[in-house]
Amino acid sequence: MRDIHILGAGLSGLAAATILAKAGKKVHVHEVLVDSGARFDGDFQGLENWTSEIDFFDEMESWGLNPNEFKSDEFSIVDLAHPDDVITNPITKGIAFRVVERGTDSHCIDQGLKRMALESGVEIHYKSKKNPSDCDIIAAGPKNSSAVAFGEIFHTTHENHVTFQLNDKLAPGAYSYMIIIDGIGLICTCLWRKQRKTSRYLNETIAWYEKFYELNRKPIKRVGGKGDFGLPSKYRHEGKYYVGEAGGLQDFMWGFGMRYAITSGVYAAKDILGECDYEKEIRKRLVPLVKSSVINRFLMNRMGDRGFKIIANYWMKNQTKTGDGLRFMKRLYSPGVIRKLIWPIAKFSMLRKIKVDDGRTIQRMPFRKSLKRDDWTPSSRAVEIGEEWKNIRKAGGKVSFIDD
Ligand SMILES: Cc1cc2nc3c(=O)[nH]c(=O)nc-3n(C[C@H](O)[C@H](O)[C@H](O)COP(=O)(O)OP(=O)(O)OC[C@H]3O[C@@H](n4cnc5c(N)ncnc54)[C@H](O)[C@@H]3O)c2cc1C
Repeated sequence: MRDIHILGAGLSGLAAATILAKAGKKVHVHEVLVDSGARFDGDFQGLENWTSEIDFFDEMESWGLNPNEFKSDEFSIVDLAHPDDVITNPITKGIAFRVVERGTDSHCIDQGLKRMALESGVEIHYKSKKNPSDCDIIAAGPKNSSAVAFGEIFHTTHENHVTFQLNDKLAPGAYSYMIIIDGIGLICTCLWRKQRKTSRYLNETIAWYEKFYELNRKPIKRVGGKGDFGLPSKYRHEGKYYVGEAGGLQDFMWGFGMRYAITSGVYAAKDILGECDYEKEIRKRLVPLVKSSVINRFLMNRMGDRGFKIIANYWMKNQTKTGDGLRFMKRLYSPGVIRKLIWPIAKFSMLRKIKVDDGRTIQRMPFRKSLKRDDWTPSSRAVEIGEEWKNIRKAGGKVSFIDD
């Protein structure tokens, strides 16, 4: 029996490895960093529960993956901050999403999946540089940047909470969010237009949250990362399976990718076991969602705060009409005739075809240029927050991204 080699010990790679090892395969995972989750640094992420009718944890269990191996906190309500600072509350009866932590601490999702893989008999090789051409599954995460996110992690006295903010000034072309779990908070701003002096956006975003919430914020560290958005011509190419973000399987609108990563890892493993056709499954289950998100992103790119206000209002109207705040999110991803008509325009104006080393072509979303309106004078509180952070950094405060 031939050994199976996987590049990347993140969510998609470890999910694939576990399924294969449980079925009796000898599996090696090669990870360039020191540990699973080391790409992240204790940041909270939302595991969405709206792109399928099935609860994601039930789905994981049906695949033999145990969601109790990592800590998660369920949410059915969020604060939605409109661009004009009005705050409303999308709410659902079930679970809208779960917050998990990314990183190397034992309760993080990355470590939970690592434990499952090791218990199934997978051999993980950390600090390993394996040639991708010698691997069966490519699960190595992002290569380029289409967008970035920067955040600050802090101690707080505020109770568990999530705010999602649509604001073109604080988060150019995108959104910011605040997640608080058990006394630890994360305020993050996402930039979908390329900027210089990026910490300016984070400082101003923190100033905004401080104004609206009693946080008693004590900064710990600053974190960040990039997102790579692209639609490849093939998900299986020359015998290799491209899974998770390495396969471009990520939501172009909000940047959600964890669910797609685990799902694609599972289906790559199932194909190797002769239980399905990976290319077909991905095109049936995930590509329609990704395409819808490209269209949503295309429409969002055209909007400033006026457009965001329309979205926020429509979301709340839809909740009043249907009695469920999650319906709107589900609708955003359903393909439909109008989206089919918009697709060629969205593809043409947003994506650029590139050829990659392995011979595949990818319709990539380039990082958009900044706009004139992205240049503004910081508030005095944001300047203070910037100075406060400089001092914390001098005293050893960690930052896992380059500020400018
Ligand atoms: C700041 C930020 C916030 C996010 N928030 C959310 C969110 O709230 N919800 C959500 O669903 N998604 C979110 N995402 C997206 C999510 O993190 C990704 O979609 C998901 O991690 C993709 O999983 P993956 O398995 O493809 O990659 P990863 O989990 O990143 O794993 C890839 C692994 O491959 C390793 N690797 C890279 N190159 C090599 C190499 N050459 N050889 C060996 N190993 C290699 C990496 O070190 C890493 O361990 C966010 C992303 C960022 C950056």
